[in-house]
Amino acid sequence: MNQNRSTAAVIGAGIGGLAAAIRLARLGLLVEVFEQAAHPGGKISEFRQAGFRFDKGPSLFTLPGLVDELLDDDLKFDYRKLEVITQYFFEDGTQLTAFADVKRFADEVAQKTGMPASGVLDYLKQAEKIYQLTAPVFIFNSFHRFGNLLTWQNVKRLLQFFRLKTFSTLHQTNVRAFPDSRLVQLFDRYATYNGSNPYKTPGTLSVISHLEHQLGAYFPKQGMYQIVDSLFEQARRLGVKFHFNTPVDELLSGDGHLKGIRVNGLERNFEVVVSDIDIHQFYSELLPDKKRLQKIERREASSSALIFYWGMKKRFPKLDLHNIFFSKNYQEEFACLFEKKTISNDPTVYVFISCKEVETDAPEGMENWFVMVNAPAHAGQDWAKLKAAVRQEIIAKLNRQLGEQLEEQILFEEVLDPVSIENQTGSFQGAMYGPSSNSPFAAFNRHANFRDDLPGLYFVGGSVHPGGGIPLCLSSAKIVAEMVEEKMKR
Ligand code: FAD
Repeated sequence: MNQNRSTAAVIGAGIGGLAAAIRLARLGLLVEVFEQAAHPGGKISEFRQAGFRFDKGPSLFTLPGLVDELLDDDLKFDYRKLEVITQYFFEDGTQLTAFADVKRFADEVAQKTGMPASGVLDYLKQAEKIYQLTAPVFIFNSFHRFGNLLTWQNVKRLLQFFRLKTFSTLHQTNVRAFPDSRLVQLFDRYATYNGSNPYKTPGTLSVISHLEHQLGAYFPKQGMYQIVDSLFEQARRLGVKFHFNTPVDELLSGDGHLKGIRVNGLERNFEVVVSDIDIHQFYSELLPDKKRLQKIERREASSSALIFYWGMKKRFPKLDLHNIFFSKNYQEEFACLFEKKTISNDPTVYVFISCKEVETDAPEGMENWFVMVNAPAHAGQDWAKLKAAVRQEIIAKLNRQLGEQLEEQILFEEVLDPVSIENQTGSFQGAMYGPSSNSPFAAFNRHANFRDDLPGLYFVGGSVHPGGGIPLCLSSAKIVAEMVEEKMKR
């Protein structure tokens, strides 16, 4: 009965791989997923310790509809739209609450900074316009196919986009929009959502603030790993076969034809192969190609992260699900990350506390803290030394801002650094989002979702088009499934 069904191998069970597997299975292909780790999810993972549960990677969930559309109704999970997106703490003592209600947020900004509320509202309106013009072209489309890019509608969108004259960096855009340096810093921060530098990344990245403030920030009822659990269950229901602890060793091809993969020493034939692994790893290990590797290496990697997971002995009512403690000197912080390849001695600190939403994530009266600073991609730094120094600086900063003695409250600690991110997920240099967007041409330089010279081979995930982050990885899977469908019709 299965003899006429096309076969597909997906390499890697990250979010892009899971979404691709579901979409290909729905197209009627027989799909097998090969994953080197013992569990699905890749960078989206969790761990439990001493009665606590921690989401280890992503903490922010936007565009949940992209997950919903993959799931059967009974597998759809509950997620809540956050009423408070983030609590911001500035070194001058200002505390600013980013309410999800845009008008309320703008009023809060006016009250705390003296800037008219209309300033924030106008900025977000402009960000929305840019999103509407660019997303269909750059996010939900494979613009590496000229036919897709040059539709009349896209050309119209691009012409309108050029008229908006958004050619400066995100930082320059924000300086023009906001007379208050705290707001510039707040809106510059969105560059870090794809691991980039606001002083270099194009102003178009203001679309991320539109995603968060106007389309909404969400949180799954059982935490971020619920996204993976549901997609995994959906894939299995569709008959996708998973092989865990099974790294793929080689992509098999010859004379411009895709043959399949080598795994566990065996050659397996597949008509379609979708790689969800880091593109650098793909060309260094699975299909060695020096030229392509050099091209990838010329692009600046996105930032990585240094994360401390702390079981805290008490609750902190002042804090929310997402909390940001800004540095005094943002420019110096990014110069350290991208030029000096180190962490400044006053880094911006992000504290994510999932038990604020998922009560069972920490024992009663306690909290699970995920404390993260941006870190440079791994380039041989002495991480043990950096970790020790940064830990002290974080504690001093949080103690100062919160009026606490945090050392006494830490029950246990786990740490994730760029080297562990690289080792655990294969991400080149431990970068969180593949190549950075530190150039106006970054979007055009990302690896395409296909290879014209090897029909049947496709690429999804954070290191290829359209980029890193859950929504974009999901988009890459959709783009690939559409291409496979088109190919099947031919
Ligand atoms: P990956 O997660 O990179 O998974 C690739 C998989 O391939 C891994 O499971 C790996 O084990 C497997 N693999 C590698 N080599 C082989 C092989 N040879 N054979 C078989 N399998 C192999 N995004 C957001 O949207 N919101 C956030 O808040 C957010 N925060 C983040 C925080 C951190 C600390 C990190 C690291 C990332 C964060 N991201 C966030 C980014 C997001 O997690 C990633 O962009 C996304 O999860 C990447 O998915 P992927 O499909 O590229 O696969």
